[in-house]
Amino acid sequence: MVKIHNFGAGPAKLPEEVYDIIREELTNFEGSGISLLETSHRTQTYLRLNTEVQDVVRRLLNVPSNYKILFLAGGGQGQFAAVPMNLISRTGTADYVVTGAWSEKAAKEAKKYGKVNLVVPPTDRYVGVPDQSTWNLDPNASYVHICTNETVHGVEFDFIPDTKGVPLVADMSSNFMSKKVDVSKFGVIYGGAQKNIGTSGVALVIVREDLLNHALPICPSILDWTVTAKNDSILNTPPMFAIYIMGRVLQWIERQGGLDKMAELATKKASLVYNLIEQSNGFYYAPVAKNSRSKMNIPFRIGAEGNEALEKEFLKGAEARGLIQLKGHRMVGGIRASTYNAVTVEEVQALVEYMKEFQEKHSK
Ligand code: PMP
Repeated sequence: MVKIHNFGAGPAKLPEEVYDIIREELTNFEGSGISLLETSHRTQTYLRLNTEVQDVVRRLLNVPSNYKILFLAGGGQGQFAAVPMNLISRTGTADYVVTGAWSEKAAKEAKKYGKVNLVVPPTDRYVGVPDQSTWNLDPNASYVHICTNETVHGVEFDFIPDTKGVPLVADMSSNFMSKKVDVSKFGVIYGGAQKNIGTSGVALVIVREDLLNHALPICPSILDWTVTAKNDSILNTPPMFAIYIMGRVLQWIERQGGLDKMAELATKKASLVYNLIEQSNGFYYAPVAKNSRSKMNIPFRIGAEGNEALEKEFLKGAEARGLIQLKGHRMVGGIRASTYNAVTVEEVQALVEYMKEFQEKHSK
């Protein structure tokens, strides 16, 4: 069997070393004689793990002491509802910067709970982050929501917006822990774990303490950050295994050299692909503006308009070589290479080699 290189957008590749650890620990967790899968969430064993995972998040991102680190079930989209339910009551209105499919979904969800102001004009072609000088921010907003990396469209913020004191809330689902972030510039950072930091089902939420205690009365307790914080993320049975995997992935990141190392590798991997696209004389085409190109999800087409027949052939040939899950999201078509932390430079080199060969064969 050919060696598989997984470029999927999520659930995405986990580091091989983490699988070794999971295998080792699966049926006898930390000498308890049983699996974590059958351990009560009220045991000292789980309490220790709960603290251990919070601690590694705090170390990696240098999270200041006035921020809570929470684990919630319901993944990224659970937080699309939790964000307005926990924050919008402050003024009844919220600002959303829509730069792709996921922030669009977040804004749509928020409309159920209050007034949503769209900060940049709606579009159906997401190819960059509009310059902040053009944004229509509402000084009365309860918060400003951004998605720092749009997984479908491959649009990534290369700056932290200045929201003039209005709390900034960021969905980092697909670039969490890919680089250092100044947490103090944000009111809330959240994300589903299944791309860069683990597996699906759990969301990691980092929230500034002064933003707690504003949940709408209708907010379910399991999405209420204040209730979750009071219960140290063990209000009900948490997605324990997903939290455990997150911890092991984050400890792996630490052993690799932390977020500076992840950022260095992310730049290297993304540059390999984007440079090849730029040097392909238009054979490959990346639609996103250069300053907003994602280092995690690289969508591209064959030809500016997208030659679907050739793209199909590209994907088939890629699979035959073990380069899998490269199909673009159904919303945008084309090809998308996700180069998360666990994807190695060598794997990206294998992809780039294939891209070169494919071009040579088809550009005559
Ligand atoms: N935000 C972003 C940026 C995402 O990429 C995704 C999932 N692809 C989500 C939110 C939703 O995450 P979940 O599927 O865990 O609800």
